[in-house]
Amino acid sequence: MEPDEKKCPLCGEIIKAVAVKCRYCQTDLRNTKPNAETKKTGGCMTLILVIMGLITLMMVIGALSSIGNNGSSNHNNDVSTLIQNRDKGNLNAAWACTQLYVEKRLVSPKSAEFPFGGSQGVTYLGKNKYSVNSYVDAKNKFGVEIRITFNGELILNEGSCKFISFQMNE
Ligand SMILES: [Zn+2]
Repeated sequence: MEPDEKKCPLCGEIIKAVAVKCRYCQTDLRNTKPNAETKKTGGCMTLILVIMGLITLMMVIGALSSIGNNGSSNHNNDVSTLIQNRDKGNLNAAWACTQLYVEKRLVSPKSAEFPFGGSQGVTYLGKNKYSVNSYVDAKNKFGVEIRITFNGELILNEGSCKFISFQMNE
């Protein structure tokens, strides 16, 4: 193909570059220019649509990932709450267990008066183990009310408890 020649965009035949009409297919080549521009605009539109599609996709992904993050942070909160509760243990249950255990060792269990908020004397040591350090006011074998201090360590497991050490000081 010579420098002064071009391909007819419709029939593909080699024609003069300056030709305004293809001598093979009789196409008016002046009309092909606007067509080409239309094609270009179409290309631009396609590009814009693709970009808009990508933006939409990124927004959707962003929204989904933020939901995912919220979910995982909620999950983390749940876990930290569990860890906090686990670290606290069940002081009230350990205290209730202690009261029963102490009452069994009293001469007059019915006279037993434990301090209000006695679970404050209970400390969770971890792994279901608690230490307790408190007192009870109860009548001794002479019918005299005395204060008995006690301390010990217990294991609390699924509602059942077991003292591994215990001392009462009358
Ligand atoms: Zn042609």
